[in-house]
Amino acid sequence: MTYQDVPPSLNLLSNEIIGLAIKVHKALGPGLLESSYKECLFYEISRAGYFAEKEKTLPLIYETVKLDVGYRIDILVENKLVIEVKAVDALADIHTAQVLTYLKLSGNRLGLLINFNVTLLKKWNRAAGNRTLCPLCKELCVLCGKKQLMKFRNFKMVGYVVYGRGSFNQVDEIIAPHRKEGKPMVFLVDHFFEGKPLVSRIPLRGNDSIIFADVTYEPKTTYVDKLAQQLKEEFGTVSGVIGIGGGSTMDLAKAVSLMMNNPGSSADYQGWDLVKYPGVYKAGIPTLSGTGAEVSRTTVLTGPTKKLGMNSDFTPFDQIVLDPELTKEAPANQRFYTGMDCYIHCIESLEGTYLNEFSKSYGEKALQLCRDVFVNKEHWDDDCDDKLMMASYAGGMSIAYSQVGVAHAVSYGLSYLLGTKHGIGNCIVMNHLEEYYPAGVKEFKYMVEKNKIDIPTGICKGLTEEDFEKMINVSMGMKPLWENALGKDWEKIMTREKLRALYEKL
Ligand code: NAD
Ligand code: ZN
Repeated sequence: MTYQDVPPSLNLLSNEIIGLAIKVHKALGPGLLESSYKECLFYEISRAGYFAEKEKTLPLIYETVKLDVGYRIDILVENKLVIEVKAVDALADIHTAQVLTYLKLSGNRLGLLINFNVTLLKKWNRAAGNRTLCPLCKELCVLCGKKQLMKFRNFKMVGYVVYGRGSFNQVDEIIAPHRKEGKPMVFLVDHFFEGKPLVSRIPLRGNDSIIFADVTYEPKTTYVDKLAQQLKEEFGTVSGVIGIGGGSTMDLAKAVSLMMNNPGSSADYQGWDLVKYPGVYKAGIPTLSGTGAEVSRTTVLTGPTKKLGMNSDFTPFDQIVLDPELTKEAPANQRFYTGMDCYIHCIESLEGTYLNEFSKSYGEKALQLCRDVFVNKEHWDDDCDDKLMMASYAGGMSIAYSQVGVAHAVSYGLSYLLGTKHGIGNCIVMNHLEEYYPAGVKEFKYMVEKNKIDIPTGICKGLTEEDFEKMINVSMGMKPLWENALGKDWEKIMTREKLRALYEKL
């Protein structure tokens, strides 16, 4: 049996159960007896329609004798998922060993070790001690960033790609096979294009509709929910969602497509692998280059409590149309900020601990293209647009297999609290990261100067203690980013105090 043999349905089941455990913990809080949590969790699992058995006895077979020595699984779900409930100050290796023994004795593949005596169960990670265990890797299969049960990330890529000047003209033909009788294609178009010639080139048919997306602010979960609700009320469902615009519109289109087929609010799915069902057909047509949003497996959203993507295998587009002609009109400043997002992706990926040859191949090419455009060129021309669009794609592929790093982790805090836009936020932070990326920051500063761009300063002046705490919390929550940047012991390197000092400099 290999890692790949663990069926996805088991992963989904464990995600559901973790959700129920979080619900119980939210209701009860920490500090109660183990038995209270066990009873409530058992109740929730049964109520959710799963077949669950409590205190299931496990016989021990010693040589040829079957002995009842009192091993009991706290809860066994659907005959395949072992749950061990604890309410202790800290989980220890012995608890892990216990679950692994249960897995071995019961012949099951996956176990959840849940300690309810923590302040925030939502932090399903090593720090909180909660673990998903499988007898194969006998390791912690962490649910916060690394694909569960996979030693190597097996990631979903975009279905179809078309690249070239004028490729936008093929959209009609490309989406035709995905049209469903009576159900419209919805074109979610960046509001910048309202009244512009591009709109008249959109191939509308039947009851297709254009919605101009307001990207004054970066996408919020409330906005995604509103758009999906509006489409459901008007059409029931739709054939597909086609995003035309910058990174914000790309992310909105992906999120709205997913929310057409998933219940509740998009805020419920902010995190890794929480989305339950594939969305409707979705295509992305970028009109700004650099974010890599066109290829990524996430859609970055600001929700009620965090800025975090709906990061899942269902998130990538089914189709992307890369037509550099569409980026022609972008203002120089905006082009620079979005382009720097790509440059920073490359630096963070290439300097990161998650780097492998796959990411390196894409990252190095993207970096070279960014340099061609922002360092070597004297004037902006079509060639720059062509190159930057491919840089965005390759940079996105690079971080799809590795991760971003310090600039992004810090900039997420800024945009959560202050609404700072992603590209500018990254630039503001990158300006102060010599300690982490010395060569990259030096080159970045050169590009800023050469392209005559102003990077805002002093944006954290006058913030309250509470504001800093909020930013630090959001930033510290980006564990995979920090781990990629600083390694497994990142928490020893990037302390809250150090992060605070960095924010104060911005
Ligand atoms: P954006 O989409 O926020 O757009 C910035 C501005 O440019 C807007 O005012 C927009 O109307 C305008 N614009 C768009 N196309 C234009 C054009 N052709 N000509 C003139 N103006 C145009 O900016 P962005 O930098 O492309 O994207 C940033 C967003 O992307 C953020 O929301 C960020 O979170 C997201 N992002 C997502 C990922 C991902 O992996 N999903 C990665 C990086 C960034
Ligand atoms: Zn980015």
